[in-house]
Amino acid sequence: MRYIRTVSTDSDDWSTRHSVLATARRAAALVNALSGDRPDPADVADVADVLRAYGETDPLDLTAHDVAGMRTAAALLRQVFAAEHADAAAAVLNRLLQEHTGPLRLTSHSGSTPWHPHVDRDDDGPWDEWLLASSCLALAVLVWDRQHPPGRICASPSCDNVFITQGSGQERRYCSRRCATRERVAAHRRAHAGG
Ligand SMILES: [Zn+2]
Repeated sequence: MRYIRTVSTDSDDWSTRHSVLATARRAAALVNALSGDRPDPADVADVADVLRAYGETDPLDLTAHDVAGMRTAAALLRQVFAAEHADAAAAVLNRLLQEHTGPLRLTSHSGSTPWHPHVDRDDDGPWDEWLLASSCLALAVLVWDRQHPPGRICASPSCDNVFITQGSGQERRYCSRRCATRERVAAHRRAHAGG
């Protein structure tokens, strides 16, 4: 993904933390944190940790009710990661944008950030709407930029994490080095057991 590196190397730089690629990676991290059937109290802390790791600042005001809504949004976003071709990813994103977001608008959050695009309906809207809108916008720009699906579901049968492929090689099949190593070892064992 292209973004202009500023003269400052300050890791707190707003534009770097909120680049399209950083926003897409945040979407993947939240989809992963919001998957599964863990009880709500643990989820709120987990999700808050992910939000802070991607630059959201306290107080987050995140409740179990918010997280329940975000889990529904994450399930919808997972469909983008399941798309195997750009056409399929675009079709899913068009449907989500049509059904769940408002029109494209610019905001500076009352002068506290640089101007940037949003497709949620309000700066102070609910967390589930924010997750869906910010994620759809970033994932749509990645499809536009590379003409490939923006991400994938991990190819390991024992893992259902999603990840962003762009910026890390289109051919990457696993969410992490850990999954890649586990599957390589398993394939090696199968080959030897068969021979
Ligand atoms: Zn994995």
